[in-house]
Amino acid sequence: MEQNFLIYNTLTRHKELFKPLHAPNVGMYVCGPTVYGDAHLGHARPAITFDILFRYLKHQGYKVRYVRNITDVGHLEHDADEGDDKIEKKARLEQLEPMEIAQYYTNRYHDAMEALNVLPPSIEPHATGHIIEQEELVKEILANGYAYESNGSVYFDVVKYDKDHKYGILSGRNLTDMINNSRELNGVSEKHNQVDFALWKKAQPEHIMRWPSPWSVGFPGWHCECTAMGRKYLGSHFDIHGGGMDLVFPHHECEIAQAVASQGDQMVHYWMHNNMITINGQKMGKSLGNFITLEQFFTGNHESLTQAYSPMTIRFFILSAHYRGTVDFSNEALIAAQKGYERLMNGISDIDRIQVSKECDAETDKFVKALRQRCYDAMNDDLQTPLVISYLFEACHLINNLLDHKAQICAECLKELSETMNLFAFDLLGLKSEKGANNDAREEAYGKVVDMVLQLRTKAKTDKDWATSDQIRDALANAGFEVKDTKDGVTWKLNK
Ligand code: ZN
Repeated sequence: MEQNFLIYNTLTRHKELFKPLHAPNVGMYVCGPTVYGDAHLGHARPAITFDILFRYLKHQGYKVRYVRNITDVGHLEHDADEGDDKIEKKARLEQLEPMEIAQYYTNRYHDAMEALNVLPPSIEPHATGHIIEQEELVKEILANGYAYESNGSVYFDVVKYDKDHKYGILSGRNLTDMINNSRELNGVSEKHNQVDFALWKKAQPEHIMRWPSPWSVGFPGWHCECTAMGRKYLGSHFDIHGGGMDLVFPHHECEIAQAVASQGDQMVHYWMHNNMITINGQKMGKSLGNFITLEQFFTGNHESLTQAYSPMTIRFFILSAHYRGTVDFSNEALIAAQKGYERLMNGISDIDRIQVSKECDAETDKFVKALRQRCYDAMNDDLQTPLVISYLFEACHLINNLLDHKAQICAECLKELSETMNLFAFDLLGLKSEKGANNDAREEAYGKVVDMVLQLRTKAKTDKDWATSDQIRDALANAGFEVKDTKDGVTWKLNK
């Protein structure tokens, strides 16, 4: 197909034509979770946003290597080289190994992602599994003169880097403002300047996760892992780096500085960021007390929730907004998403009940023939999923008209309508039918009963017992089953 896919690059602040460095291969890196607690709605958004991108690039024929990391060390509580390691703190509280905490929450994250029908990435590297690569990165930055050692820790020299390369190009921040706005250094700080960030931290005696290094027994700074692992698996220049907008500063800004300070140029061609989800206009967070985990959404077990919301309702809710727009959570908005999702699923399953005509009416013909390209155009315009959904709703409206005989469709257009809706709803938006396992089992069971009743009818007909055969046919019709005698045997379906 014609490749005219535009994506918004946070770095240039423009929509740009997507041109991979080594087509048909595409390298894509997305910052994954820090595994010290259950995934919440804020985790679902980047996972779903970049799942859409992953699906769409593959659909366009690219071979995508999608790397999404697991942060299991080095993410300190205050994001600024201070405080406890988030995982270690949890491990101390629960008297577990840090790796037990990381494994437990990684497993739960995977369960939540599977429920949301988020495809697993091609590689899911762990920070603790790449300490050597991170140390190599620190050595390169030190050798190039953009870092300094201080009391066993290594810090990135932001002021020096800014003079040569300009720091802050991704976030649009200016170093002088950052210095003026940062807290005064107290006398005991190891840093030359408060804006400097840690590449390696010497472990305090109580720190459990620690590795030997040329500088001290310690652990890597949080920003190192994504630069080191992105380069390891995608090469020193790769196509896409994504994550939530909250990662632009400092995390991704620091990643750019680390790349340039180590290898002399940037690694990433397109930086992509999804916007945040707010709750009543407020950022969601543990400390703010408005924190709802995905499991709580799925079970409804939270005081702010008036009901449970299924994984597909959550997915539909997130896709109903463009990924760069804000989304505000409310029960009303989620109930609307649930209705929208059900309407779309019903529309698609209703396609089977449409009777074809010899020809389309003019309006139907025009709509169906344009639908696929309109959906592609929306996806090509920086993944406009809300537009795709609105076109699929227009199609649902047409399906209702066709069932009410207010419109006419030919066999060829019906096939096109069905294929387009299936492609966009299931393959590309990644929605799936949520008929539970119970429902499926029940349907299978009554299917067997209907088959058995129809065998009795066939036997009655063979025995020329017309009264019994008619009685069975009428009873099934009353129960909503449509029975057809064809030359290949008896078929049936349940009319809704
Ligand atoms: Zn990262």
